[in-house]
Amino acid sequence: MNLTPALLPEIIDAIDAVIEKNADEVTELDQAIGDGDHVTNLQRGIAALKPQAGELAGLEWPAAWQKIGMTMMSTVGGASGSLYGTFFIAMSKASAGKPMSLAAFAEAFSQGVESIKKRGRADAGEKTMLDVMIPVADYLQKAVAEGASLPEVLQTLPGIAIAGMESTRDMIATKGRASFLGERTIGHIDAGAKTMQLMICAVVEVLQRLSAAPA
Ligand code: ADP
Ligand code: MG
Repeated sequence: MNLTPALLPEIIDAIDAVIEKNADEVTELDQAIGDGDHVTNLQRGIAALKPQAGELAGLEWPAAWQKIGMTMMSTVGGASGSLYGTFFIAMSKASAGKPMSLAAFAEAFSQGVESIKKRGRADAGEKTMLDVMIPVADYLQKAVAEGASLPEVLQTLPGIAIAGMESTRDMIATKGRASFLGERTIGHIDAGAKTMQLMICAVVEVLQRLSAAPA
């Protein structure tokens, strides 16, 4: 399996499917402590990416991430839209001129997470998508430092993302709309953390399936 943007059509389809399948559940989460629009915001972005998939497949990673970022920024809306946009644009900048590898991806992902922290003035423990992304970024960096293989990383990642998503349940929201509810947010999983976990797990599944298939 070559880790090129030729994977993007399949990845976008997998993300589309998993978000559709879990849409009602995520809407319930966002209705409990937000305004209930998170899934429709995200689905607007995914719907805009689908017709671009063929073109994205022919680009290099930095150009593909830049285009994805611009599309998310201009279509998703809500607090999450500018955060997703910022993330992909930072990934693009961090990977410019570098060949793709697990190490390069881990570095770009971390830069993307840093850009969300800056843009959203948020950090770990505030009950947002970052509570999935920060542990994933830290794990990727550690895995690269330890010389882990791609199959090992793909095996471990879903557990990290799920633990991050689950960890938001007992947190008090201090960023975004949910922060208005303060302690009443305890006991509810953050919608943006849930969709982030679902998307990361969907990407992992595609990569596992393609790496298991004969070339
Ligand atoms: P809005 O809150 O404007 O309605 P969405 O519903 O699309 O936007 O997205 C809400 C999600 O965005 C939250 O569940 C949370 O994960 C994430 N989020 C909100 N504010 C921040 C922030 N400052 N930093 C990181 N993530 C945030
Ligand atoms: Mg919302």
